[in-house]
Amino acid sequence: MRTIVLPIVLTAAFFAACSDKVAEPDPYDPAHDYFTFANVDQFATEKIALDLTVDFDSEQLIGSATLTLQRLDASETQVILDTRDLNVSAAHVVLADETLLPVEFRFGESDAIKGTPLLLELPGTAQSATSFVLRIEYTTSPGSTALQWLPPNLTAGGKHPLMFSQSQAIHARSWVPLQDTPSVRVTYEATIRTPPELLAVMSANNDPLTPRGGEYYFEMPQPIPSYLMAIAVGNIFFAPLGEDTGVYAEPELLDASVFEFADTQEMLEQAEEIFGPYEWGRYDLLVLPPSFPYGGMENPRLSFITPSLLAGDRSLVSVVAHELAHSWSGNLVTNATWRDQWLNEGTTSYLEARLMEVIYGKDRVDEERVLSYRELMLDLETVPLDMQALAPRLETGDPDDFQGTMHYSKGDLLFTYLENAFGRAAFDRFLKMYFDEFSFETINSERFLDYLDQHLLQAEGSTVGRAQIEQWLYQAGVPDDAPVPQSSTLNAAAAMAKAWAEGEIGVAEIPIASWSPQATRHFVNSLPKELASDRLAELDEGLGFSGTRNAEIGRTWFIQVAERRYTPAYEQLEQFLNRYGRGRLIYPVYVALAQNGNDLELAREIFDKARSAYHPVTDVRIARSLDAANSQSD
Ligand SMILES: [Zn+2]
Repeated sequence: MRTIVLPIVLTAAFFAACSDKVAEPDPYDPAHDYFTFANVDQFATEKIALDLTVDFDSEQLIGSATLTLQRLDASETQVILDTRDLNVSAAHVVLADETLLPVEFRFGESDAIKGTPLLLELPGTAQSATSFVLRIEYTTSPGSTALQWLPPNLTAGGKHPLMFSQSQAIHARSWVPLQDTPSVRVTYEATIRTPPELLAVMSANNDPLTPRGGEYYFEMPQPIPSYLMAIAVGNIFFAPLGEDTGVYAEPELLDASVFEFADTQEMLEQAEEIFGPYEWGRYDLLVLPPSFPYGGMENPRLSFITPSLLAGDRSLVSVVAHELAHSWSGNLVTNATWRDQWLNEGTTSYLEARLMEVIYGKDRVDEERVLSYRELMLDLETVPLDMQALAPRLETGDPDDFQGTMHYSKGDLLFTYLENAFGRAAFDRFLKMYFDEFSFETINSERFLDYLDQHLLQAEGSTVGRAQIEQWLYQAGVPDDAPVPQSSTLNAAAAMAKAWAEGEIGVAEIPIASWSPQATRHFVNSLPKELASDRLAELDEGLGFSGTRNAEIGRTWFIQVAERRYTPAYEQLEQFLNRYGRGRLIYPVYVALAQNGNDLELAREIFDKARSAYHPVTDVRIARSLDAANSQSD
């Protein structure tokens, strides 16, 4: 393909020279958010007040959003907000005496990824006011990409419906008309009406003692980006984990959740020691039904968590450490656009490892890092080179697709590299200073680089300079001097896989009971490519992989089952794909099926049966990948 590009470039240069015209400057601006329609340079939202009724029958939120906006541009009279599939019935400017001035509004042209801009023409005095209040009456649509409406049979209890939101990356616009970009921070308050027997919770000041009654009031006094607005309604109850921490879940999952997440209070206290004060008041968890699309979502004060972490042995709680760490990196200091997402996720992955080290020890962290590193190396084989930079050029596509291990593991590696170069004490000083300097602000990669350069690279002095960091930010792959995680316990598990495959030991001699789940996963990953079906059967019968209740071991095993076409385990593979809706667990299994050369049709059949229980975010992602596999095989 490169050979075709070259003549075109020459031709363009030739014409430019002939006509004496200067070539157009590259219009790409890394500081610009390409995933919002909102005119954020003209207006900035300061506060949002929601008044919403949660209607399970029509699967809609019905009510209004009242936005307090600051004018940044004296001459602009049109406000543009982001929406997706919202039905707007009226818009008004609300004057100080509560008088309503009607606002003319219309929808602009829709975009498959970005949704539909809502254009509002300011009336009368609002055209010049430095600050004004805009109220929009609207309903969401049942197809809202943020909201999942679960019928009772898809909940743990089976008696009550449940709904929840997932606003990241650009789905808040499908339940609130707003400036949907991380570069704008707002405070919010909300009145939420629900069926009286259900409880509403939000990423706000949830009071564990709130009586049920069908009307709930929330306040989020700290300014947050739109992707952190969150709501859930269901037959949810609270149990304390510590003084400032607790867990919400359906009663059927509450005891297991209290056991699994018992270390949350200690995590919070340790996190404050290392990273500085926790700025958000309480820290609670909400354990959702299996269709929750992610491991966790760092909604402030109330992380939303997948029940797939309930392994019964606290082996998967690194996700909680991760979501808690987001209280600093992400929620307090926020990526300016989705292109800078590594600043949220890479920093958080590093903080997560630090927390895990304090509470569970360095061996555990080494194990997790080796597993993540392996996933990163696999991703580097498939992710396009221009998307392997931590801070790539990103102006099209879906930010949801832009969430591989790249930001997480490569970002964590960069921070580990910096810790190694400058020492933990100096690096911790820098981190605390960074969180303090940019708290409740947004930051892009370039500003981070300048700050790092000034306050760590130059201030502390080392062989690591700006050029090395630029390589991490803007180049594909990982630099040659990047740290390579090592784990002695995982090395031992890998050696055991080899010894068993070569017939040196029998299944009964594999000491799996003494291993961590991480070591078990590494054992499965280390099995040689060529293994006869009867040998896989021997392993599965002896070690019970297909029947595991540890979601991560299941993920690792069923990827292998699909890649190797080990058909005796296909029935349990299908059960696995029905048990969970978390993208990380099921997506790679679907991809492995679709790409093994034989089972694309089967993957489609399983997906068609299972998809009604998946969240829209997961559904779209799997549908896209199966379509892509389809067109490859055509
Ligand atoms: Zn994260």
